[in-house]
Amino acid sequence: MEPTLFSKIIDREIPADIVYEDDEVLAFNDIDPKAPTHILIIPKKPIATLNDIEEGDLALVGRLQYTAAKLAKELGFAEEGYRVVMNCNEAGGQSVYHIHMHLLGGRRMQWPPG
Ligand code: C5P
Repeated sequence: MEPTLFSKIIDREIPADIVYEDDEVLAFNDIDPKAPTHILIIPKKPIATLNDIEEGDLALVGRLQYTAAKLAKELGFAEEGYRVVMNCNEAGGQSVYHIHMHLLGGRRMQWPPG
């Protein structure tokens, strides 16, 4: 797999506004926010799309969701509500081929999304 923009952020080759990091996960503010809070939560392991997740990755993917909820609590909008989104492939709106969870909070969300 070619190094993506997000691998370069993990390796500190490209700057990002990092809000959380542990051995397996990195979270940073989206450069083009779609809500008052818009954080991207990514695994350090490069996985191109949701279709490429393997059984051995299940705990890692759970950690993305766990991190989203942890950040929502810390930022104070967990009770009020928030949204997590993962886009898959072109028609799903994916533009960076390293899986990432969007955490959107701080405003009322609309349904259905476009
Ligand atoms: O789901 P999708 O692949 O479209 O999301 C990629 C996200 O990465 C976009 O929300 C975009 O704003 C964000 N991005 C970023 N920093 C960059 C390039 C893209 O936060 N340097």
